[in-house]
Amino acid sequence: MSSERLVPHNPATGQPLDPVDCTTPEGVREVVARARSAQRAWAATAADARATQIRAVAKAIGDHADALARSISDEMGKPIREARSEARSIAARVESFVRAADQALADEDGVENGIRVRVRWRPLGVVGVIAPWNYPVATPSNLLLSALLTGNAAVFKPSEYTPHTGALLHRLYAETLPEGLVGLVQGAGAVGAALVASDVDMIAFTGSIATGQAIMREAAATMKRLVLELGGKDPMLVLPGADLQAAARHAADEALRNAGQVCVSVERIIVHADVAGEFTRRVAELVRAVKPGDPRDESTTFGPMASARQRDLVLAQLADARSHGATFVIEGQAQGPGYYLTPSVVTDLKPEMTLVKDETFGPVVAIQVARDVDEAVEMANDTRYGLGASVWGAPGPELDAVADRIEAGMVGVNRGLSTAAGGPWVGWKMSGLGYTRSVTGMRHFLQPQSQARRAE
Ligand code: NAD
Repeated sequence: MSSERLVPHNPATGQPLDPVDCTTPEGVREVVARARSAQRAWAATAADARATQIRAVAKAIGDHADALARSISDEMGKPIREARSEARSIAARVESFVRAADQALADEDGVENGIRVRVRWRPLGVVGVIAPWNYPVATPSNLLLSALLTGNAAVFKPSEYTPHTGALLHRLYAETLPEGLVGLVQGAGAVGAALVASDVDMIAFTGSIATGQAIMREAAATMKRLVLELGGKDPMLVLPGADLQAAARHAADEALRNAGQVCVSVERIIVHADVAGEFTRRVAELVRAVKPGDPRDESTTFGPMASARQRDLVLAQLADARSHGATFVIEGQAQGPGYYLTPSVVTDLKPEMTLVKDETFGPVVAIQVARDVDEAVEMANDTRYGLGASVWGAPGPELDAVADRIEAGMVGVNRGLSTAAGGPWVGWKMSGLGYTRSVTGMRHFLQPQSQARRAE
């Protein structure tokens, strides 16, 4: 460990938490080397035996859901009930990961021109897992489970905002699995960069586009495999024929969940002019009922933002929108102690506003009005992002056709995506490179190898 230390802060109070030592560059290399030694035996372990051990990890995470939830709340301000369900979600989804890995690992055989080709799917080796702070248990676990079930070792770097949660989560993996198989390194961007530059074979990263680009540049030197899950500017289209109350509920819930700090969420709403007034009135009514509270209180649904930096970024976007003529139906206020920012509902948005162009990642219901369906689709696609989206309207082929025109990796039709299972977790355009979940997502953690023989 180095003399450098991380000092996370409790976002509800602004008070510092216990410091955590950063891993030195030498320490990063050692952790990676230990993971590499442990990986050989793990890759040679039968897939069903690996799955049994991974199920035990998921159970351990569920058994420690209360401790993990307290740590998540203290480090990034998530309301305790949501934090607990985040920790419990791993056990609920482990079976779908096991099934997908099982299918992804299956050999494929074919015969052509007298040659039999067998495609074997082989683990890559050691996967560096670099995670953000907004879902500090669920997000790294998605990447760790994928890496481990496919026979890889992993080295995990939690966000510098959630190092204690990261350490606790790591302990649950490390205590259940063979020694050294899952390593931990702690620190901010420099430690992440050291992990990318180290002897790992792949980086599985979730975070911002800017960091994803830095990782891609660094990884080019050794042609490391990459899965990059990046930011979004998820549009929600509300069209005539939509159940406006259900749409308003979805808009308020998903724009404000986790104080708006969710990657697949509602970042902007594009509402058809015919229903814009009624929809906006209903959303505003729901948002007015949202009251900020102490994240450790079981009844709290809306907590502080995770950091002063994140709050200030959102405040800057709101100030920019104001200066370009936006209308504030509800104006959010920064409140202390801690990094609270109450929700905003903003309309009359223009394409040049940062609130429209850039990811906000904060508690803002941002509403744009479109003259017709074509304009709504155009506005939805007029972005460098392409993570999630949803379309709301009268169910049927016309609405399905609108969904088909949206340039996003995940599109909900009259619903969000939060519980959709089985499909890939995937971004389009600059929202990601490669993807996870599903059989094809699992294959990003594997190297295909063609073995050719004369057919008998
Ligand atoms: P971030 O990019 O600032 O940091 C993410 C991680 O990368 C941290 O652990 C950080 O220490 C590390 N890092 C920073 N610089 C690095 C470098 N040069 N090399 C290697 N690692 C480096 O992102 P954040 O603020 O922690 O998280 C918020 C972002 O994450 C948002 O953009 C959000 O949309 C995105 N996100 C995406 C998904 C998804 O599934 N697509 C899920 C959750 C969050």
